[in-house]
Amino acid sequence: MVVSEWKGRQRDRLIREHAHDTYKAKRKLPEPTVCPKCGAVFHEGRWTWAAKPSSAHETLCPACERVRDRYPAGYVTLHGKFLQHHRDELLGLIHNIEAREAAEHPLKRIISTEDKDNAILITTTDIHLARTIGDALHHAYEGKLDYQYAEESNILHLSWER
Ligand SMILES: [Zn+2]
Repeated sequence: MVVSEWKGRQRDRLIREHAHDTYKAKRKLPEPTVCPKCGAVFHEGRWTWAAKPSSAHETLCPACERVRDRYPAGYVTLHGKFLQHHRDELLGLIHNIEAREAAEHPLKRIISTEDKDNAILITTTDIHLARTIGDALHHAYEGKLDYQYAEESNILHLSWER
């Protein structure tokens, strides 16, 4: 896998340009379509939390597909000593961000939160949610934030350490 790193604005632009992903692009859906798992509604070209129409096609939304396939788009790894004493506080912040983002965007969800040795790995259905989490940690607690974006697979890895 070729992993590229970018800094600052160039990185932001490239992430936006490659924001399409295989799960989103692989088919055109009839409208309206409802996800039978989470109830998201595909309407006017995007997934929303609109009320379920009386008659609709059914297909899993890309976020539910990623959860089912355990195929995250975003990985956020938290490292460092600070973590040991602030675990609940950090996870609270992260879950608040998810709740806020997912309320607006059905495709932005956390797939899992796992303890790995002395680190915590959070996986997401969307690269932008991973990005928002990383930026929020950095904003709230400083520390060191690194990005690695794999273009061909459209996967974003973030590492936060304090
Ligand atoms: Zn769904």
